[in-house]
Amino acid sequence: MPSKPRNRIGENYGRLTVIRASERRTKSGNAYWWCLCSCGQKREVAGDKLSTNTMRKKPVVTACLVCSRELQIEGVCAKNDREERQRREQAKRQRANLMGKVPETWLKLPLTDAHARELGQVLFFRGTCCLRGHLAPYRINGGCLACAGQTPSAQ
Ligand SMILES: [Zn+2]
Ligand SMILES: [Zn+2]
Repeated sequence: MPSKPRNRIGENYGRLTVIRASERRTKSGNAYWWCLCSCGQKREVAGDKLSTNTMRKKPVVTACLVCSRELQIEGVCAKNDREERQRREQAKRQRANLMGKVPETWLKLPLTDAHARELGQVLFFRGTCCLRGHLAPYRINGGCLACAGQTPSAQ
């Protein structure tokens, strides 16, 4: 006989509210619960995935399938934004050290690939060397301008 699960009805886990018990059991005998997401969709979730302890290592479920996917994408975007900000900060620092050592026009170019796209431009200058050691602007999708023979390397 499976032990009677703790009644979770009415409890909240992220966007989910537990609305009723399910007949389903996990392999280890844990109860499933029907949950209502704040978006109105229902999802059947194993009891051991319902936790408010966000520090634990085991995955937790906090939304319906659709919302979970959205939350995941948001998470990825936030990470990309943070990395892009760091790249731009780094490019600014690199370029500050290159004042007077490279053509001034290079220092007015966008800072990164994404920055150039944002501004509708095709060139950017991060102030770093390409794999072949050139110090030159890059073209989006095209790589180093010195490699392409379009400009002499600054070093
Ligand atoms: Zn949802
Ligand atoms: Zn190069």
